[in-house]
Amino acid sequence: MPQVTLPYNPISRFYRERFQAKVYKISVAVAETCPNREGLRGMQTCNFCDQWGSAAYERNLQKTLRAQIEEVRETLRTKRGAEKFLVYFQAYTTTFSHRQSLQDLFTTALSYSDVVGFVIGTRPDCISQSFLETCHEFSQRTFVAVELGVQSFNDEVLLWMRRGHNRERSLQAVARMAKACPQVNLGVHLIFGAPGETDDDAIASARTINGLAAVQNVKLHHLHVLKNTPLAEDFARGEFVPLEREAYFQRCRLFLQHLRANIAVHRLAAFSPRADELLAPLWTGFKMQTYQDMLDHMRDRQAFQGQYV
Ligand code: SF4
Repeated sequence: MPQVTLPYNPISRFYRERFQAKVYKISVAVAETCPNREGLRGMQTCNFCDQWGSAAYERNLQKTLRAQIEEVRETLRTKRGAEKFLVYFQAYTTTFSHRQSLQDLFTTALSYSDVVGFVIGTRPDCISQSFLETCHEFSQRTFVAVELGVQSFNDEVLLWMRRGHNRERSLQAVARMAKACPQVNLGVHLIFGAPGETDDDAIASARTINGLAAVQNVKLHHLHVLKNTPLAEDFARGEFVPLEREAYFQRCRLFLQHLRANIAVHRLAAFSPRADELLAPLWTGFKMQTYQDMLDHMRDRQAFQGQYV
């Protein structure tokens, strides 16, 4: 099959080179809460977060880790020809757990011979010393990746999102991870589309990431409105208007054009796994079409990742 040239550096390429196999992530939900939901230090739920912690399915929270892994693994094998797997502790904030339970979870994930490592999604302010030590310990014997929910490098946007951490906290988290567990594959998540955010902000974010040598990948989302979230209330009152598709494509393209070419990209847009919860923008519901149109947007302009670095 001829190689299709993509205008960006997809994470699948990294997985293929690293593991010499078709690797898929198995998303699991094991954490039941996060500091924002617990109201620690006066925090509130992030304005875009639904009741399932942005990713978990209710039914998964009721299953054991083994049951979740085995169910998804079988589906990925059958439907997508997956050969190896990374277990992705995604929903809520997994690192908001005790050290022993983290170790038990990671050990369970690695007990499957075709699981080649694990990925942990967490917040920049949930990087405890024991989490760093646990990551370091496991990274000596397997592939460990951490994805930090940075979301924005703009403090006003972070405040509006009610993230409960600021830009400085994110930069500190990256520095601490780099120092304490340099073998961990580190990534950051960004959300584009907050009110007042501009294309220049996206370019500035790319430049900030370029300056963080430890960051090896990014995941991009556009801000979308799910039912039963604080953002849904803003949306209903007309106080939040989601980015139009073309405006998002442009912001995303500019970000990529200014991003180091060697940074792998997980995805180019968010999608809602629960279609019935999506309020806006509705184009978010068409995952493959959105992806294809984003690629066309870049190709039509002869744009590619790293073009202006
Ligand atoms: S987005 Fe993450 S940190 Fe924010 S409320 Fe949801 S689970 Fe908690």
